[in-house]
Amino acid sequence: MSDFDAIILGAGAAGMMCAMTAGSRGRRVLLVDHADAPGKKILISGGGRCNFTNIHTAPERYLSGNPHFAKSALRRYSPQDFLALVESHGIAWHEKTLGQLFCDGSARQIVAMLVDECERAGVRFALGHAATAIEQADGRYRVTIDGKASAAPALVLATGGPSIPKLGATGFAYDAARRFGLSIVQPRPALVPITLGEDEALFRSLSGVAADVEVRWERARFREAALFTHRGLSGPAMLQISSYWQHRTPIDVDFLPDAASDWLVTQKREKPRLTLRRALSARLAERLADALLDRIGLDGELASLPDKALRQVENQLARWRFLPSGTEGFAKAEVTAGGISTAELSSQTMMATRMPGLYAIGEAVDVTGWLGGYNFQWAWASGWAAGQAL
Ligand SMILES: Cc1cc2nc3c(=O)[nH]c(=O)nc-3n(C[C@H](O)[C@H](O)[C@H](O)COP(=O)(O)OP(=O)(O)OC[C@H]3O[C@@H](n4cnc5c(N)ncnc54)[C@H](O)[C@@H]3O)c2cc1C
Repeated sequence: MSDFDAIILGAGAAGMMCAMTAGSRGRRVLLVDHADAPGKKILISGGGRCNFTNIHTAPERYLSGNPHFAKSALRRYSPQDFLALVESHGIAWHEKTLGQLFCDGSARQIVAMLVDECERAGVRFALGHAATAIEQADGRYRVTIDGKASAAPALVLATGGPSIPKLGATGFAYDAARRFGLSIVQPRPALVPITLGEDEALFRSLSGVAADVEVRWERARFREAALFTHRGLSGPAMLQISSYWQHRTPIDVDFLPDAASDWLVTQKREKPRLTLRRALSARLAERLADALLDRIGLDGELASLPDKALRQVENQLARWRFLPSGTEGFAKAEVTAGGISTAELSSQTMMATRMPGLYAIGEAVDVTGWLGGYNFQWAWASGWAAGQAL
């Protein structure tokens, strides 16, 4: 039996941050992953360049059963803290858009940095083996890995959520948490493409067409690009709204968020011979303009159309209603929303309040960020908070 101060299950973003933080505080840490290499999701993140944080990180940009839960960890380990780490390793970076920070080179640099920090902090890696048995007795957690038992007074669940199972993602953290009496907020795919049904086949035929839109679901709204796919809707705006969307409810899309009010009536005064189709295709991709007008069922020179009809078109374009048939599910979801309930975790340390020594961090927890580096920032911040407490 090997003895450690902490056993961390999951060598992803949160697990590695937790391990290096605890290790650098002198803790003897075992970091376990069933994958043969650490940080596989980091490697494919941000199109291979890892959008490692967002400088606009704020608790309001996270979904959770308890919107206050993430505040403490996010405040104590900020995007600037992670950036300082990145810079200390000489990794070049840039801001792409909306506060999103990416590596200039490759996501491999972020994984190499975390592994290097773990090694410097004396963290022991156990890769390529699943933890087969977890037991708890006399204030110690015993984990069997490849037939060999290790024990520690602290066990950290950092195995993420079930999104993208082909990368080794599992619902392991939920099963383990349940075993120790923690509750789970129903996990669901988030940051995931939305599907449209047969009745919207017209839009599915627009596969590849993009538009800069504002999308709304209840009080959530995002102003970003949307992309039509052969199954429905994707692109940053749609991925963002998917995290909020609930089944059998509509989403509203403003196809012309920059258009002045009464823009079509103004055009009619200025260019009466312009057709409605031309007016629209001057602002939207032609195929999209055609599809929208086919649905609206109106065309002709602006002069021939009453102001009332034009205002109706303006309204329809500003509040286009889609009733999604579903999402592309965990196979395509960038993250999992829901997870280990925050109700039984300390927001300071991530430790289960009724299960001393048991911690949960990262995506496994019911805290889900917006698209754009927010999820890694939560992984770093929650990993750091637990690493300080171990
Ligand atoms: C395609 C894609 C792109 C993304 N891009 C970004 C981005 O640019 N910016 C951003 O902020 N977020 C991005 N994300 C989300 C981000 O990757 C996750 O939120 C983040 O990795 C969560 O960190 P984590 O450590 O909690 O979990 P993970 O990084 O998923 O790590 C969990 C680890 O646990 C291991 N594991 C799972 N089950 C077991 C088990 N039973 N036994 C042992 N080990 C196990 C896994 O192998 C994995 O190494 C992206 C996600 C995807 C899928």
